Amino acid sequence: MNSSSIFKLDKINFSVDGLKILQDISLDIQPNDFTVLLGPSGSGKSTLLRMLNCLNSPTSGSIYFNDKLITDYDITQLRQKVGMVCQSPTMINGTDKEKLTMTQKWTKDGEIFSDNGLTEILEHVGLNSEFLDKDARSLSGGEQHRIALARVLLNKPEVLLLDEPTANLDPQLANKILKLVYQLYKDLKLTVILVSHDHQIIKQFAKRVAFLIDGKIIEEGTADIINNPQISAAQAFIAKEAE
Ligand code: ADP
Ligand code: MG
Repeated sequence: MNSSSIFKLDKINFSVDGLKILQDISLDIQPNDFTVLLGPSGSGKSTLLRMLNCLNSPTSGSIYFNDKLITDYDITQLRQKVGMVCQSPTMINGTDKEKLTMTQKWTKDGEIFSDNGLTEILEHVGLNSEFLDKDARSLSGGEQHRIALARVLLNKPEVLLLDEPTANLDPQLANKILKLVYQLYKDLKLTVILVSHDHQIIKQFAKRVAFLIDGKIIEEGTADIINNPQISAAQAFIAKEAE
């Protein structure tokens, strides 16, 4: 197959013990899109996102990354190209430098990062070299998110997967993190796929939106569909959120 899509999802289904969690999901994502998977809690957003770097596998259907079946990639190489920041990045003991360099085993050819290299990545996420020696546990919520992003960026990914990057942050901080993600998206020419249940907060950043409700993509298109959903279930979701 040959297409311009960076990701192509073809009739994805996912069931656990007969319970259908994702149903018949087909979706094309173009390089350099900023796509938001939007929907209520429990609609299957995280399950779907995690499939894009093989943390979950569909029960049936195929996922292609750059025209190749995702399962045909070496998993380490795939995860270098498709970086993921989980919903609540957990901080472990140690300095940020130790935490950043712990990705070494996932980097190309055993590349070891110099302090200069690490500082450059920290600057990308709005931090400075002082953070190299800070204890990761002493960081604020916003700083932890930035370190989690920096850690993924060390691998120079093509794609950034973000699961509710603004969960548990106050609106001001949430906006700051999204602005940072948007800047990285522009500067590093990334493809971003972001999961959110909050259309208000992501509206100004999304280029494309897929509404995921009850495990199905019920509507998909440019970000305009947040303001003008055509399908009644999407209209109901937006109306409820706006209350
Ligand atoms: P969202 O991210 O939209 O809140 P999730 O993808 O986390 O939704 O989950 C969708 C639904 O699937 C939830 O009801 C969740 O409990 C269920 N689910 C997801 N993965 C599993 C699993 N491995 N086993 C059983 N249930 C699961
Ligand atoms: Mg989720």
